Amino acid sequence: MKIIDGKELAQQIKTNLAATVAEVTGEGARAPHLAVILVGDDKSSATYVRGKAKASAEVGIENTTIHRPADLSHTELLELVEKLNNDPAVDGILVQLPLPEHIDTQKIIEHIDPSKDVDGLTSANAGCLAQALPGVRACTPRGIIAMLDSAGVRIDGARAVVVGRSNLVGFPVAKMLLDRDATVTIAHTHTRDLGTVTREADILVVAAGSPRLIKADMVKEGAAVIDVGISWDDAAGRLVGDVDFDAVKDKASAISPVPGGVGPMTIAGLMMNTVECWLRHIRSEEK
Ligand code: NAD
Repeated sequence: MKIIDGKELAQQIKTNLAATVAEVTGEGARAPHLAVILVGDDKSSATYVRGKAKASAEVGIENTTIHRPADLSHTELLELVEKLNNDPAVDGILVQLPLPEHIDTQKIIEHIDPSKDVDGLTSANAGCLAQALPGVRACTPRGIIAMLDSAGVRIDGARAVVVGRSNLVGFPVAKMLLDRDATVTIAHTHTRDLGTVTREADILVVAAGSPRLIKADMVKEGAAVIDVGISWDDAAGRLVGDVDFDAVKDKASAISPVPGGVGPMTIAGLMMNTVECWLRHIRSEEK
């Protein structure tokens, strides 16, 4: 059994991206620039934003975190996104979610220029994924595919089961697995007898947000298991995933831990997206 170390893989990806950035800026190009908008004082959001700034520094991406108060109006936020859309020196725009309740999140996301949408959440980029066209892919699904590849898991022809169908994780990862020629089933809260479905999986991706939902008897011997879930377990005093790691690890051929699995790989996905958006921008500026 192989534990897929997301932290180590993310580090390798960031090191490779840093080499690309150093090479291209060494030839005279401007550095990539990621703008992160944080609205309000949510502690988890602030931690995530700091993680993105730290990773950006490691890769050589200029990072501007724009912090606005929780009572920022919807119009003011739209105007801020618009300003960043029009700034030729900004390659990526990320609006940290969740936003305060008075703000229409989807309208804000939709306002981001799709060529700067490094989270891959605009309907333009989601539509590109739906039609298997080039576009920015969402960070977490991108990180998950990279984890499977790094562990040498064969996706082509595999039977994949994704638990969860959110726009952020479940649905896009299922489509990305399908585009890599897996046969994909998506399970959700209405799925009857979840174990019958998950036991079919050669690749099992769980993004339900339900602590230890997946027990050992729900996993096929030799399956590759990616645990996306993150929940705080009061009794254990630590973060736990959607998979009962200790019980499942002996059955799986490869498994990702929580923490240290999908979390760091989501940030690596963001770094890949930012560098790719930047490369497209500077190449089109050269023309
Ligand atoms: P969501 O709440 O939007 O979606 C959850 C999905 O899981 C839904 O489609 C629901 O139908 C399904 N589901 C929930 N309980 C289920 C059950 N008992 N059986 C079958 N299906 C069930 O959540 P999300 O945004 O997709 O996130 C899922 C989890 O992944 C959360 O724990 C979240 O914190 C985590 N997450 C982690 C990262 C990361 O970087 N590590 C990134 C995004 C999300």
